[in-house]
Amino acid sequence: MSIINEANASCSQCGSPSTIKIYKSINVSDNPELKDKVKDGSLFLWECPHCGKVNLARYETLYHDPVKKLMVWMLTGNDVSETQMHAISNHTKAMGGYTLRIVTDTGSLMEKVLVKDAGLEDTAVEMCKYVTKMEMASKLGDNTRAAELFSSTFHFYRTEGEGDDRLLTFMYPLEGKMLGINIGINVYYDCIGILERNPHAKPDEGFIKIDSSWVDSIIR
Ligand SMILES: [Zn+2]
Repeated sequence: MSIINEANASCSQCGSPSTIKIYKSINVSDNPELKDKVKDGSLFLWECPHCGKVNLARYETLYHDPVKKLMVWMLTGNDVSETQMHAISNHTKAMGGYTLRIVTDTGSLMEKVLVKDAGLEDTAVEMCKYVTKMEMASKLGDNTRAAELFSSTFHFYRTEGEGDDRLLTFMYPLEGKMLGINIGINVYYDCIGILERNPHAKPDEGFIKIDSSWVDSIIR
């Protein structure tokens, strides 16, 4: 079931108050029309009727795709209901095969949905980002630029092609520009292999955050 409420919001540019729709819970089996809006991020954007500024709404939401068995909890602060999270974890555990994730921004929520829809594991995708950054940084030969590259956030964007020719595209900001990099599916499979050979890389059960810090915690 999707839970859709109304809330008051102020425009970030002119400060005018508006009433906006907020999606506390998004079930894409019940409301398939919401999925594309999550994937392109438009669900969380609202336009100010006074000045035309497009604002990003920030609120907690639980995204649920029962077909793909994916639940992503997007948190905005530390106001996590541990009890609620635990109850849902137990419920999905009984159903089996669920991927439970925590994110703290809309870009990461979009990414989790895109990765799942592409049939990929987000753990291996995060490892791919790390490997790709290492590879790119080694070619830069400039410590400052390499450090900037490492601190920039890579987001999975799409896959193209079929079979062994399949490519994964990551987008990342660098020096004020949005850039893209393609990597071969073989890199992804290598990362799957690395994770399988590392028993401590198996994510804990329940809602967890799988991001660059998670990769750091494994390779350390
Ligand atoms: Zn405004």
